Amino acid sequence: MTSVHDMPASFSPTSLPCPGESDLVSLRESSVHLASYAVSDANSRGRVFPEAAPQGRSEFQRDRDRIIHSGAFRRLEYKTQVFVNHEGDLFRTRLTHSIEVAQIARSIARRLNLNEDLAEAISLAHDLGHTPFGHAGQDALNECMKAYGGFEHNLQSVRVVDLLEERYATFDGLNLCFETREGMLKHCRREQAAQLGELGERFIKNQRPSLEGQIANLADEIAYNNHDVDDGLRSGLITLEQLETVPLVAEHLQEVRAAYPDLAGRRVVHEMVRRMINTLVTDLIAQSAANIAAQNLQTLDDVRNAPALIAFSPELNAKQRVLKKFLMTHLYRHYRVMRMSAKAQRIIRDLFDVFMTDSRLLPTQFQSAETQTDIERARVVADYIAGMTDRYAIREHKRIFAVEDTV
Ligand code: MG
Repeated sequence: MTSVHDMPASFSPTSLPCPGESDLVSLRESSVHLASYAVSDANSRGRVFPEAAPQGRSEFQRDRDRIIHSGAFRRLEYKTQVFVNHEGDLFRTRLTHSIEVAQIARSIARRLNLNEDLAEAISLAHDLGHTPFGHAGQDALNECMKAYGGFEHNLQSVRVVDLLEERYATFDGLNLCFETREGMLKHCRREQAAQLGELGERFIKNQRPSLEGQIANLADEIAYNNHDVDDGLRSGLITLEQLETVPLVAEHLQEVRAAYPDLAGRRVVHEMVRRMINTLVTDLIAQSAANIAAQNLQTLDDVRNAPALIAFSPELNAKQRVLKKFLMTHLYRHYRVMRMSAKAQRIIRDLFDVFMTDSRLLPTQFQSAETQTDIERARVVADYIAGMTDRYAIREHKRIFAVEDTV
């Protein structure tokens, strides 16, 4: 397409030709490069509430835009990935994590002739239902909700886009396309799947999500393994010397040291991490392309009935497992991370208990009829808590429990 900069000096915006139908089709559907088994506007199962086709963008670009404009997306900025937001300005948050996932997922989707917009939309939305304080928060809220159906951040992400966002006049949620929601729901227990209708069907029929959904899932893994190495080193909780026992890291570190013997400090880490991401992405693309070719896929239904095809090579998978184990032992279970997790769990538990005991303490919009059952009330409390950012949860805890604080 010609950009404004290529236009002759005499060009004025009013002389822009009206796009013909064929231009709109190519804008809406960049399907010229899409594989026949990729998700497209044409084979999408569509939205729960029918809407007119978007003008000048694809259905999945529209989904991505709706996600970016949502309140839940903005809250990701102040939600913990591993390090609590106030611990440092350079650590990943759920927002920067989601953006990194989207970047990786798009690269992979494009190379495999799959729907890049869908892979991006799923990636940006995949953590929308995360509680404050990362996994410690999720575990605490799940524990609190045990008697009331449990809490799972993955299901909560779907709940956010299906129900909790209040932006449209005629429906709750964002009314995203089926394939975006399908990709967000990575796992689900069978009993829960039965309650999710069409969305839960694949867990009962043992089917796979779209390849774009599978990509977002593994892009998530590539992103967090690598940025947790980076953030872990930055925090000083783990060291390069320790990481030399992890083959995936050691190989790339040696490569950097061989190429730049005098390089020191953060540049060594960045050169190493970018090589690791590149190795993982390249391996994933090659292995997945081979898996796809072996299946002779024709349609999206073929994808759903095939085994999971987006995958690392067995060799790299094994190496990644060693890295994950290292991070679990040395970073996620480091005593300083555990202390913060313990604090976080206490905050979540205190808030849940106090709101369940006296729902009059909830903000007005979360209070409802006295006829509510305990299960219904617990879900409202869980929605309220899960929607909090780290600092909002800390503030709310103070407002309720610190006598000297304002209410
Ligand atoms: Mg994630």
